[in-house]
Amino acid sequence: MAESSELPGRLAILPFRNKVLLPGAIIRIRCTSSSSVKLVEQELWQREEKGLIGILPVRDAAAESSTAGSLPSPGIGTNLGERSSKTQDEISESLKHGSKNNQEVIHWHNRGVAARALHLSRGVEKPSGRVTYIVVLEGLCRFSVQELSTRGTYYTARITSLDMTKLEMDQVEQEPDFTALSRQFKATAMELISVLEQKQKTGGRTKVLLETVPVHKLADIFVASFEISFEEQLSMLDSVDVKVRLSKATELVDRHLQSIRVAEKITQKVEGQLSKSQKEFLLRQQMRAIKEELGDNDDDEDDVAALERKMQDASMPANVWKHAQRELRRLKKMQPQQPGYNSSRVYLELLAELPWQKASEELELDLKAAKECLDIEHYGLEKVKQRIIEYLAVRKLKPDARGPVLCFVGPPGVGKTSLASSIAAALGRKFVRISLGGVKDEADIRGHRRTYIGSMPGRLIDGLKKVGVCNPVMLLDEIDKTGSDVRGDPASALLEVLDPEQNKTFNDHYLNVPFDLSKVVFVATANRMQPIPPALLDRMEIIELPGYTPEEKLRIAMQHLIPRVLDQHGLSFDFLQVPEAMVQLVIQRYTREAGVRNLERNLAALARAAAVRVAEQDHSVPLSKDVQRLASPLLDGRLAGEAEVEMEVIPMGVNKHEISNTFRVTLPFVVDEAMLEKILGPPRYDDRETADRVATPGISVGLVWTAFGGEVQFVEATAMVGKGDLHLTGQLGDVIKESAQIAMTWVRARAMELKLVTAEESNLLEGRDIHIHFPAGAVPKDGPSAGITLVTSLVSLFSHRRVRSDTAMTGEMTLRGLVLPVGGVKDKVLAAHRYGIKRVILPERNLKDLVEVPAAVLSGLEILPAKRMEDVLEHAFEGGCPLKKYSRL
Ligand code: ADP
Repeated sequence: MAESSELPGRLAILPFRNKVLLPGAIIRIRCTSSSSVKLVEQELWQREEKGLIGILPVRDAAAESSTAGSLPSPGIGTNLGERSSKTQDEISESLKHGSKNNQEVIHWHNRGVAARALHLSRGVEKPSGRVTYIVVLEGLCRFSVQELSTRGTYYTARITSLDMTKLEMDQVEQEPDFTALSRQFKATAMELISVLEQKQKTGGRTKVLLETVPVHKLADIFVASFEISFEEQLSMLDSVDVKVRLSKATELVDRHLQSIRVAEKITQKVEGQLSKSQKEFLLRQQMRAIKEELGDNDDDEDDVAALERKMQDASMPANVWKHAQRELRRLKKMQPQQPGYNSSRVYLELLAELPWQKASEELELDLKAAKECLDIEHYGLEKVKQRIIEYLAVRKLKPDARGPVLCFVGPPGVGKTSLASSIAAALGRKFVRISLGGVKDEADIRGHRRTYIGSMPGRLIDGLKKVGVCNPVMLLDEIDKTGSDVRGDPASALLEVLDPEQNKTFNDHYLNVPFDLSKVVFVATANRMQPIPPALLDRMEIIELPGYTPEEKLRIAMQHLIPRVLDQHGLSFDFLQVPEAMVQLVIQRYTREAGVRNLERNLAALARAAAVRVAEQDHSVPLSKDVQRLASPLLDGRLAGEAEVEMEVIPMGVNKHEISNTFRVTLPFVVDEAMLEKILGPPRYDDRETADRVATPGISVGLVWTAFGGEVQFVEATAMVGKGDLHLTGQLGDVIKESAQIAMTWVRARAMELKLVTAEESNLLEGRDIHIHFPAGAVPKDGPSAGITLVTSLVSLFSHRRVRSDTAMTGEMTLRGLVLPVGGVKDKVLAAHRYGIKRVILPERNLKDLVEVPAAVLSGLEILPAKRMEDVLEHAFEGGCPLKKYSRL
């Protein structure tokens, strides 16, 4: 190591931008600028013996604040310190340009470090041919700059050494301050070394330094190895006094030590968290082992084993079993916390739970018993029952017969679902209902692929899983309510389900393996036939259930609904009696429906009221047979006071029905009219409704067809001052609007013949607008069958004659006045009967449809056939048609 005394008086200066080389530090730099290349060439490369150069820190524009003692810029372009990295070279170049324009921002520090080149290598850049040098420098000792001047393209400086002589140093070393400082520094440095060694698991090479190198040099070496700010580096360089240098170095080493400790703490914390999960894993493994020893099998791994057992018992077909095995192997390799574990497990559970082979044992089909079963559960419906028996007979003769799927079509509450469940009972099979109402997504039928988050099997596979056998009776409920949109067409998926050729290998997207649906007996229900796609309709045999007459409803209520409702409420006839007359009242005043659902609901309301009354009665405390009557005067008194209550003993395990027997009241609760009003509220419908509503001219009664069966639809027309416009309201579709236009035209064309106008004022609409409204404004309406009703209401309006309130009508009308047949006649006639209407005007060509209407209904109605509109008007008005003569246009 060079001693200060050996320093020459002048040194070539290499500027270091924002960086300091401290004595004892070794640095590798790359010189590319012409001035530094020249310097290296002349001062180091061409010399025999490797020479010394001076490294002087410069502060650039970015580091504005100049420190005391820095030299002002000499006013010439300078090349700044070279760096080994290209980017830094570029930065220094840009600074070079900057310095040309803005020279005063570069400040030379007035103290530097003499450095010796330990290694030199020369390179030529391609393709420019520029020479570059890589120099490894070792800092030797501090100097101060007396004067800075240029030699060719680089700087030289007159310098004086700042290092102490040996004598001076010996003297300082004697001082107690110095000894204390040096001890403190060494202790801190030692601590740092041990921390680093511990961290990097290196041997004690650095420790040797502590013993061999003088402490004031050690201070520089240690600080040079840290990343500290430029300012701190400068102040270290400026610490010429060794005591100052030691205390500064101690402070910096200590700070570095602290920062290492903090960093270590953070890593430890993170590692701690990691090892926590590892620890957990280990503990779980141990727990598993312990549980295994104890034969306790209820954790995850045992679950997987249980799942495997369940899969083995599921008797899957060979291909499915293979697939399931593959999935199980994947599951076994996964950790329960791993994503995908759960979905894989749920999937395997489904595979294990599906009834691949499991079937309910089919009883030998006894047709007589099946018929009895149907008769017991359902009143009437003879034709429907007959068809069901035929269907069952075919199945008996040929169990795998691929007959069409039965589809019950009719309004709600007519017994479609309960008939299907009776079929299941007759076949001795389980029954499962799949609701298809509102299904618009094909995935509801076929399932979602497992790649989707939250994917599920389709409703069919789900239903089969729930029912647990592969041969249930499956009811596809409300098959007409499926619709198609962008998410696919559920109907096409259903086609596959119902096709005996295809359903052997039904492919659910979630399941991803074929499932055999051929053993399932499918039955469907629908409210209407129209919306069912023709291809689907083709696979089914339609059995229509039109709705019940009030008489049929009465029988159904008396024979089936009341006993069932009583049973459901834990009552019996001893508690509640609903006389026939009252049921009739419920039917007439509280329900107006094709089926019996509301009737059942109202009867249930009566049963609830009765149940409350019965439960509120002060009853005996039921005693068990074993309990001895306590000789308590208090209890005796209480029983004595309730002489009308009979004591009864309830055996253990009684059902609801039996419990009701314990509440034996003296008199049953007999429903009367007052009670009806109290429980069900004021009557909702009455026979006078039509009469009241048709009290003024311009109103006629039509019959329409809805998903709920037939309905009565009033048509109201009124005239007001205007310009001859026609206004239509009541949520009408295009077809019905056109019917209104046709009706208006027909009436205007025949205004004279109908005596609606006099010869003078031939225009019916002169100075007035017509408004036609279809009440129940919230319900959308469409269809052509209101044609004749519209004309009738207009004729009534213009002729100021009332339409007969006991007459309802349905029929389409052509522009020339021909009456065309319409659909749903049976339902419409039943609706008219429900409303208490006595006369029904029908298109003549619809008379054939009346064979389907129960005779009991027909006997109470006068059916009036109409061929032309004039016939309708003839029947609709009291005293016949106001027409002078029939026009035969
Ligand atoms: P749907 O499926 O047609 O809407 P449900 O089968 O649910 O109707 O029938 C509604 C209720 O009416 C059920 O309790 C059912 O038992 C009863 N019901 C309907 N028709 C009859 C009938 N002919 N005989 C006895 N009960 C009936």
